[in-house]
Amino acid sequence: MPDTPFIHNLNAVNARIQRACHQFQVDPACVSLLAVSKTFSAQHVREAAQAGLRDFGENYVQEGIDKMTALPDLRGQLRWHFIGPLQSNKTKDVAHHFDWIHSIEREKIAQRLSDQRPKESAPLQACVQVNVSGESSKSGALPAEVEALCLFAATLPGLSLRGLMAIPEPTPDMAQQRAQFRALVQLYEKTKATLMREHASAGARFDVLSMGMSADLESAIAETPPRTQLIVRVGTALFGSRS
Ligand SMILES: *Cc1c(COP(=O)(O)O)cnc(C)c1O
Repeated sequence: MPDTPFIHNLNAVNARIQRACHQFQVDPACVSLLAVSKTFSAQHVREAAQAGLRDFGENYVQEGIDKMTALPDLRGQLRWHFIGPLQSNKTKDVAHHFDWIHSIEREKIAQRLSDQRPKESAPLQACVQVNVSGESSKSGALPAEVEALCLFAATLPGLSLRGLMAIPEPTPDMAQQRAQFRALVQLYEKTKATLMREHASAGARFDVLSMGMSADLESAIAETPPRTQLIVRVGTALFGSRS
């Protein structure tokens, strides 16, 4: 591998993941790296793909579609994840172009994504976003709403409900980072148990926690329970700071 700045960053991120997995006894095979390419160019995505990354996260629908269109030779090799807030007038574009959505926060959006998913495509892989701090200014379903929303989304044929996502309050304090992730994990476990009871096949598919970013991925790994897939969503630590 050539020693480019990107490769250097990627090696550092992978080393952080490996070290945290070792320290907190998490199987590294259970951790996947989602490269958050928002604000970076299609050429940055190409370089990351050449280094072996396959999963890319975008916050703006059109920006993501523009990058997919600019990389026709990589079509079918990459998985595109929509991770930003989604208005109902943009659900069709997400249903048609993306492989994953991490940011479902209400029934109407889930219903539209399912209805608009093309029949020839695999179901859209989906996480419900949780507002773990419960502040009204923040995105995501409130913790008290999450179970009902998941039960609803789990029945939709165009979606495959995979788990929960959160963006906690930024804090440099690792104990506070871990407490916020632990709250998400507890909600995840409660929701999984309910899904298992009501809808065993949907419960079995519900195995993903989307949590941890550049500044707190070690805390996310520390709180990951066994038999769960962790998706860490990393932008800055891979691509540099966003202007
Ligand atoms: C921007 C963003 C990230 C990446 O954040 P970094 O701190 O740059 O790693 C992760 N998740 C979501 C939802 C984002 O919007």
